[in-house]
Amino acid sequence: MSLEDIVSLAKRRGFIYPSSEIYGGLAGVYDYGPLGVQLKHNIQNLWWSSFVSAWDDMYPIDAAILMNQKVWEASGHVDTFADPLVECSNCHARFREDELKTKDKCPNCGKEHTFGEPVQFNMMFKVELGPTWGSSEADEGNYLTADIQVKDKKGQVVSSFKIKENERHNSLTIYDKNSRTYLRPETAQGMFANFKNILDTVQPDLPFGLAQIGKAFRNEISPRDFLFRLREMEQMEIEYFVHPDEWEEAFEQWRVGMTTFFKKVGLPANMVHELEVPEADRAHYSKRTIDFEFDFPFGTKELAGLAYRTDYDLKNHQEKSGKDLQYRPKDGSAPFLPHVIEPSFGVERLVLAVLCASYSIEPVRLDDPTVTLDDESVTAAGRIVLKLPADIAPVKVAVFPLLKNKPELVKKAREIYKMLKDELGEVMWDDNGNIGKRYRRQDEIGTPYCVTIDFDSLQNNDVTLRDRDTTKQERVKINELISKF
Ligand code: ATP
Repeated sequence: MSLEDIVSLAKRRGFIYPSSEIYGGLAGVYDYGPLGVQLKHNIQNLWWSSFVSAWDDMYPIDAAILMNQKVWEASGHVDTFADPLVECSNCHARFREDELKTKDKCPNCGKEHTFGEPVQFNMMFKVELGPTWGSSEADEGNYLTADIQVKDKKGQVVSSFKIKENERHNSLTIYDKNSRTYLRPETAQGMFANFKNILDTVQPDLPFGLAQIGKAFRNEISPRDFLFRLREMEQMEIEYFVHPDEWEEAFEQWRVGMTTFFKKVGLPANMVHELEVPEADRAHYSKRTIDFEFDFPFGTKELAGLAYRTDYDLKNHQEKSGKDLQYRPKDGSAPFLPHVIEPSFGVERLVLAVLCASYSIEPVRLDDPTVTLDDESVTAAGRIVLKLPADIAPVKVAVFPLLKNKPELVKKAREIYKMLKDELGEVMWDDNGNIGKRYRRQDEIGTPYCVTIDFDSLQNNDVTLRDRDTTKQERVKINELISKF
């Protein structure tokens, strides 16, 4: 299986579409289609039930995407959330230096020795709140040059510089620095910034956690590999606050919890690897990090992270905001800043890993009566099946009347469809084409069961229940059907 197989299935069956595709798309941004939304929600619900509802000491937060710029200064993101950027002096294509195979030759234009020293490119998307002071835009194909002067309050020039001629420079905006903020590059800071609110309103005992699911944005230099490296993504993060002496125990508890969760979403244990991140590669805030890596078709890459962030964030926010963020034990002992363990999951990397792990091509048995060889989803090699765990499959069961032009069959099938839908919610109706094709369509989207209503059903009050993975079919009484799911 290649990444192209996954991209093509995701598009063809309405899981994932390129964003604004009718205008040529937008690099690093994707939209979820109907089945994708359901799959994503099911994964998020499983995360929520595993890590929020199941815990006594977990408090959910839904912080806004826009925050005061001071949050990002205090967190260190303004100064350090950057990747090394190099630009080809010939074609002006830009790359992340550490992702180039060689710096000797530009992969875009092929010219040699065109890269200079890297500059640190901050990956936060900048946002100006309210109206900007002035802007200039060049017409299509033209570009701007400018002589910029920095003046002090008395009007004296304190520095000046020229904007280098470059045909990519076609707009310039001048704004008030105080109106600057950023699209959040992680959900975590929304939890640290609310720490005092939680202490004051919930009055939790340590240890306790804050949990959040939400969008995050990173202006990645080279978005790539479908859902893997995006500019807009969703994260599911927990900040778990502990006494500084207890971080190791909590870290281990979360390591095990994350491993269990990967199993629940159907990732085989041999495809998930723990990488103890060496100090030199750790984020500025972390004293210990484990990256959970997954065997994606394009290589073994980070799926999720577990970091011990110490009291780095609370300490900085306390200092920069001037607010006391210390936890006060109810037994009256001395207040202190808790330390934090952060399990962080990227939703899209999980969705991609789940699709990759569940995608399989099963040999078609020629004696299987449900196979017709003209089915678009039965390739020369076999039938495509998404072996999703039932919990996260976007459709739990599909219901088929054997023939769509027999009102008595359709009526019975509609009754069964309604009964299942009331109970399970995610039930699909399909009366299009022969039964073999309908099975194949459901296999491809990972529906664990199909129910067919035929003429015998009218006599015997039973249906054919067909299993996605084994393709086995059994007759089941209608009043026993629900108990099968
Ligand atoms: P990478 O090293 O791959 O850039 P990271 O170490 O910067 O990732 P974190 O800051 O630890 O990532 O973010 C937590 C999680 O958010 C990651 O484990 C990943 O699942 C997800 N994530 C981070 N960046 C992206 C991205 N650009 N696109 C999709 N998911 C992402």
